[in-house]
Amino acid sequence: MASPLLKESAAKLKKAIPLMLKHQIPTTPTNYALWYAYVGEKSPSLNQHLDNVVSQYSTCPPSQSERLYREFLSDPVELDLVDMRQNLDAMVTELSQSLKDTNFDADQFQHKIDKSYTKLHKIENDGFTIEEVLSVVKNLVQDSNEIRASAKHFSEQLAKAQAEIDSLKHQLKQSEHEMLFDALTNSLNRRAFNNDLKAMVEQQPDGLCLIIADIDHFKVFNDTYGHQLGDHVLKSVSKRLEESCQDGTKLYRFGGEEFALIVAKSEIRRARHLAESMRRSLEKLLLKDKRKGTTINKITASFGVAEYKTNDSDSSLIERADKQLYEAKRLGRNRVMPI
Ligand code: GH3
Ligand code: MG
Ligand code: MG
Repeated sequence: MASPLLKESAAKLKKAIPLMLKHQIPTTPTNYALWYAYVGEKSPSLNQHLDNVVSQYSTCPPSQSERLYREFLSDPVELDLVDMRQNLDAMVTELSQSLKDTNFDADQFQHKIDKSYTKLHKIENDGFTIEEVLSVVKNLVQDSNEIRASAKHFSEQLAKAQAEIDSLKHQLKQSEHEMLFDALTNSLNRRAFNNDLKAMVEQQPDGLCLIIADIDHFKVFNDTYGHQLGDHVLKSVSKRLEESCQDGTKLYRFGGEEFALIVAKSEIRRARHLAESMRRSLEKLLLKDKRKGTTINKITASFGVAEYKTNDSDSSLIERADKQLYEAKRLGRNRVMPI
């Protein structure tokens, strides 16, 4: 049997999703967490705020979702995914319970058939009347109708539950992806970076290096060619950096036009070398602005590198890499620091 907790979360989920659809709320982790809390009626104040927003806008705009989320839900978004996973588990458990119930029905039916069969045997031997024979046959027909109805009901339930599970799995995958990947560049995002760096510092800090790269004068690309081309530059830079990643190196979008690379089991000299080859590779990047027919070939970036030292925390490591990046900018950009 599904535990009461799992049943409760599955029930909440079944309530939250139709509400979100009704108000045309995108099923992002933030929204999902909000509406999940809403149907759970944990905070009357949150419910009142959400009701007000919906009555004002006929939906809940992303800015409002973010605000309410920050104000009312201190739990991290991760909890939401744990919940979703539990919901899936609950539904699978419910399903297997139904399956067992149907098996039980089938067993009972078998039992009834056996009984009728024995009766028929007796009729043969004892010479029962035609009415008695008919009554046995009538019972058999009735039993078989019951089992047919039960099987039909079950297969309908099965199909419904399967569809729900499929849609939940899809949402879960999407939420997990949104949670860890950047929508523009499709590289890992800041949240993934924070999680991974913290874990690395705690679990395998030896030779851990951090590279922070910042595109030089990126604002000029936006101002000269427009924001869309700026986005295109970001995607291309991210792709190029990703291609240059060797084993044990992971790329993250750290902020607007900043990227971070966590290099495992390395040393500052090797991390510097990697950054240097990335810097050179970016220099060679050529982008075409199709609308204007011009080629952009002056994409450069500055790099700051730091290696883990005893007693470092994730933030002290970031701070050191950031300082080196700042130095690289100060000394004229398009370079790796320390030398
Ligand atoms: P520096 O060499 O000192 O790093 O100069 P910079 O122009 O690269 O740095 P600055 O911090 O002045 O500007 C960064 C710009 O990046 C400002 C911001 O509008 C832009 N930016 C941040 N995120 C995005 C994005 O997702 N798309 C686009 N097109 N631009 C973005
Ligand atoms: Mg910057
Ligand atoms: Mg910059």
